[in-house]
Amino acid sequence: MQIRTKIAIQFTIIIACILIIFSLAVYYTSENFRKQEFYNRLHDRGILTAQLLKELKITEKDKKKLRDANKSILGKLNVEKVLMFNDKDELVYASYEADSILYNPGFLKDVRQKKYIETSDWDNQVTGSLYIDENGKSYVVIAEATDIYGREKLQNIRDTLITSFVIGITLTIILGIIFAGQSLKPIAGINEEITNITAYNLKQKVNVGNNKDEIAQLANNFNKMLERLETSFELQKSFVSNASHELRTPLAALKSEIQIALENERTGDEYKNILKSLLTDTQRLIQLTNGLLQLAKSENQENNMALKPTRIDEILFKAQEEILGLNADYRIAVDFDDIPDDDKWVTVNGNEALLLTVFTNLLDNACKYSMQHEAEVKIRFDEKQCIVAVKDNGIGIPESELSKIFEPFYRTHNASGYRGHGIGLSVCRRIIDIHQGKIEVQSEVGKGSVFEVTLPHL
Ligand code: ADP
Repeated sequence: MQIRTKIAIQFTIIIACILIIFSLAVYYTSENFRKQEFYNRLHDRGILTAQLLKELKITEKDKKKLRDANKSILGKLNVEKVLMFNDKDELVYASYEADSILYNPGFLKDVRQKKYIETSDWDNQVTGSLYIDENGKSYVVIAEATDIYGREKLQNIRDTLITSFVIGITLTIILGIIFAGQSLKPIAGINEEITNITAYNLKQKVNVGNNKDEIAQLANNFNKMLERLETSFELQKSFVSNASHELRTPLAALKSEIQIALENERTGDEYKNILKSLLTDTQRLIQLTNGLLQLAKSENQENNMALKPTRIDEILFKAQEEILGLNADYRIAVDFDDIPDDDKWVTVNGNEALLLTVFTNLLDNACKYSMQHEAEVKIRFDEKQCIVAVKDNGIGIPESELSKIFEPFYRTHNASGYRGHGIGLSVCRRIIDIHQGKIEVQSEVGKGSVFEVTLPHL
């Protein structure tokens, strides 16, 4: 079911309930008021008749006149009966003539006891009142009538309420559909625009309308999501093109080396040398492919990464060992600012293999980009975090390029003479992000750099 129809139906049901409650309240209040007013009038008429009979000492002859008067005065009320009984339950007056007039003695007794009774008999309303004359004689006066005019009025009220209800509901349905349609119109527009957005035109945005209401917010958020998607697509694209470029260069070098080697007959030693050079190039290629794999892996790592308490100092020593094992001329000094009171201060919730990747990258860079191939590592901590600083006295990073070195494949201009592919730091940043930490750099060209990794400890 369309939201528009749903809103219109819900709206109509609510209004219908309100109208029904309101109409019933009006109807029953009017009915109660009518009934009570008619009882009061019946009572007044009954007592008036009794007073006329007794106080004015109306004789039997005058009773006929009174009957006529009653008819004309009380006719308006549609009084059918005014009866008066003495204390022996004998009828002393009847407003109409009939052969025998009987009245339930139980009712007369009740009236004597309660002094006043209101009751009804089908459409007729009945009042029974106790009247005591100046001589102390008590009479029961019964007045009975149908409130034709009152009922007609009530019938009118009922008809008006029913008509208003039908008109009200019809208007509600029509207006509900119109207003719901109007309010949801922008959504229909957005829907149409979204249908036209494909992977190839992510630049297209949806119209945000008045930029104020919830629908505009939805459109705005959708546009922001498109922007994020676009950035991620762009990154993906540039990653693929950068990666293929990086792979193509060493592969092309390998190919030309082989072609040159095959051009002439070579001696055994020459072939040996050529194969050695090919091996070095292949090793570099493997390094590059591993770097690319790490980068791709770190992108998908977040959800299925196993985290467990991991000692940062141990990882640092492992990274030191690994780098020194590969490069005998490198020197790395690991230094604690303070000895931690509690092991927890140097223990983070992390993935050992990934953190090892971070620190081997940083140590390798520090040694690689400095003449002396020296790196200094300092560990410090506070109540919440463990901070590792990797310092070198190397070539440094130009200030304008500081923010770019964490982007995949970015290499600074002064690093072109050094081996590398610009992948390591982007992998580091991604891994540190996964560990909810941060990586920062301070550097000065010609003086050196300090990379600082901050991780929350246990
Ligand atoms: P790679 O070192 O393989 O090129 P990285 O991603 O590790 O790739 O580093 C990206 C760039 O950042 C490097 O090419 C280099 O320009 C710069 N860089 C990283 N570490 C240092 C450092 N310790 N000193 C100077 N430049 C650095």
